[in-house]
Amino acid sequence: MRKNFASDNNSGITPESLAAITEANCGHSPAYGDDEWTKRACATIRDVFETDCEVYFAFNGTASNSLALAHLCRSFHSVICHSAAHIETDECGGPEFFSSGSKLLIAGGNNGKVCPSEIHRLVHLRHDIHYPRPHVLSLTQATELGTVYGIAELQELGTVAHDLGLRVHMDGARISNALASLCCAPKEITWQAGVDVLCLGGTKNGMLASEAVVFFNKEVAAEFDYRCKQAGQLASKMRFLAAPWSAMLCDGAWLRYAANANRMAALLASHLREIEGITFLNEPQVNSVFVNLPPGAAPRLRTLGWRFYEFIGNGGVRLMCSWDTTQDDVLSFVKDLKEIVAQLRSENEQNPPAHPASPG
Ligand SMILES: *Cc1c(COP(=O)(O)O)cnc(C)c1O
Repeated sequence: MRKNFASDNNSGITPESLAAITEANCGHSPAYGDDEWTKRACATIRDVFETDCEVYFAFNGTASNSLALAHLCRSFHSVICHSAAHIETDECGGPEFFSSGSKLLIAGGNNGKVCPSEIHRLVHLRHDIHYPRPHVLSLTQATELGTVYGIAELQELGTVAHDLGLRVHMDGARISNALASLCCAPKEITWQAGVDVLCLGGTKNGMLASEAVVFFNKEVAAEFDYRCKQAGQLASKMRFLAAPWSAMLCDGAWLRYAANANRMAALLASHLREIEGITFLNEPQVNSVFVNLPPGAAPRLRTLGWRFYEFIGNGGVRLMCSWDTTQDDVLSFVKDLKEIVAQLRSENEQNPPAHPASPG
């Protein structure tokens, strides 16, 4: 089946994930995470991050983020995040709901990244009892706009946050893509940079339905198991969520797949640069490409069956590559787009758009 560029969750699951699920399907095993696959998955995550940490599995990213934030906050606390953050724009109020009212405070910053001065501004904006008390900084790595925080940027943000008494949450739905782009150790962009809790993405990386909530700050994790259970996020057949984690992480498959997605986005970007009339919203750093297409091109691409989003970030079209996107997928999209752009140009030449009447 031809791939599309709507989202990395339009893809299927990796052969490693599927094989691990099949392997775990071998008779009976204790439920609710008290099984050998879950223990192995948690141990693998500790190995990969090179630290002792508490690990829990949830079914999706919205629940992971919402429950992690709810666990960090009391109801009168607030969470500082970028205006494009998934927790702000795409979780239907989940973080506010599960935290019983913690408000999100919206920070600015270029290219989807929180600017350190914005954290100071929001923390010091008010100190009175009427202002929801800032308690957490939430960062998304890679960002919703397809950019990546560098190690030094994260260290600075972590220091600013901790100096102001904030905890740091990281939405890592696409942290594998960020790691593949930065070529650094997972610890360097997480706990070594001050991240207290990471929501580690599995689904977009090619797993079936699971995200890991990783508490580097183990004190904060107390009773998180009860929160997951109450929220309906404790899988009874946990082994099937957990098994793919070991399979994907232990020999680096997660990073190979993420690197493929990044490479395909770079290939797509290099072809799009050659097409007249296409402008880039930012420099692609991971697996997405944000562009403005010539007027009229998007509907024609859709007619040919291509899928992509137009509502993310500051307008434009988001073209998202996945772990399984191939060079042929990219080239066949580019070929269709080039033909559409040529058609539109010749139609405009035959029938130029009306110019506004000039006075006199
Ligand atoms: C996809 C995504 C999530 C998780 O979304 P779910 O659909 O709830 O799994 C979280 N954060 C970011 C940045 C995402 O892109």
